[in-house]
Amino acid sequence: MNNFVNHPIISVDEIIRPTHLEIDLKALAENFSRIKKHVSPAKVMPILKANAYGHGLIRVAQLMEELNADYLGVAVLEEGILLRQIGIKMPILILGGILGNQVPLFLKHNLTITAHSIEKLRQIDETAAQMKTKAKVHLKIDTGLERIGVHYYNAENFLEVSLKCKNIEVEGIFSHFANSESTDLTHAKLQLERFLEVLRFFEKHSLKKPIRHFSNSGAILQLPDANLDMVRPGIMLYGVYPSANVKKTIEVRPALTWKSNVVYFKVIRAGHPVGYGSTWQANHDVRSVTVPVGYGDGYMRSMSGKAEVLLNGKRYPVIGTISMDQIVVNIENDSAYNGDEVILIGSDGKNSITAEELAEWAGTIPYEILTSINTRVPRVYVE
Ligand SMILES: *Cc1c(COP(=O)(O)O)cnc(C)c1O
Repeated sequence: MNNFVNHPIISVDEIIRPTHLEIDLKALAENFSRIKKHVSPAKVMPILKANAYGHGLIRVAQLMEELNADYLGVAVLEEGILLRQIGIKMPILILGGILGNQVPLFLKHNLTITAHSIEKLRQIDETAAQMKTKAKVHLKIDTGLERIGVHYYNAENFLEVSLKCKNIEVEGIFSHFANSESTDLTHAKLQLERFLEVLRFFEKHSLKKPIRHFSNSGAILQLPDANLDMVRPGIMLYGVYPSANVKKTIEVRPALTWKSNVVYFKVIRAGHPVGYGSTWQANHDVRSVTVPVGYGDGYMRSMSGKAEVLLNGKRYPVIGTISMDQIVVNIENDSAYNGDEVILIGSDGKNSITAEELAEWAGTIPYEILTSINTRVPRVYVE
């Protein structure tokens, strides 16, 4: 089945662009079950924000539902509403901050709200009362990321208020790590201690604990003490590790291959510069191919002068400046033909080019590489 992301589902023969992503659903399913097995009995909330890290929100959500994941996590309200509109029934937590005027939409679509201040709790409570329903919320505690949430040192009052809100069900409580993928876990451990201290509130008052969750990929791999009742894997679900030095205690493999095809072959004469700004030229004739992908697809311009691609089992450099829709590849004296497959991210058996490598060329992290592959690139799902 093929999904043109944010578009109606289209069939194979309607894909006219050679540049596309192949998403290996089996790899996604295996990564999920490895994580699940590793953290059991903790529950798993796959994180599907930013178009499922580029893998296509709709199909990945359907797969996670088929695999009986416990919860889904996305960043923004619209992602949650889209999942409801395509018929996803499982619980969905919107991880990001909320505005009071969004609350009716959360309630209408049965989406779980992140409550990150006393003021927001009151807005949620009032709206739920007006709509004669009960709001499901997860309380967000800031233990050291300084983004959203109530500071751990002010949490007691926040928890007390939450329990007095008659129209709110406090289903969960969570925090988020700043450095869990690092080799130095000092700050992560401090954050965990702070969170555990906040959670003593429930014991002190003999209250049933809500679902406690904290761990992203880095912590799942390196800090099993933080698994608690549920974990929130993002990048590792897609088979990419959160950093180069993280302990790889769970084996996962990339689910995404980014492919294109040669659309043009030519010989470039010695001394004839290539591309915008004429940044590259050779002192001898070179053979080259042109491939229809560029920064307009998320193939980042900042990789100019560094990027390589796979063609017929070999690595070749991208030459000149990466433009919006096209790149030029230097194949020196080798041969290539129109229609030959080009791999931008992925493996051809012998060689591979990873999202991590693109991140290095672009001076960024693999998260940004994956989430930048935009909706102009069709996603094709293979079982
Ligand atoms: C993005 C995100 C995650 C997943 O992080 P990864 O490092 O991709 O595993 C988990 N929790 C929250 C709150 C997030 O925003």
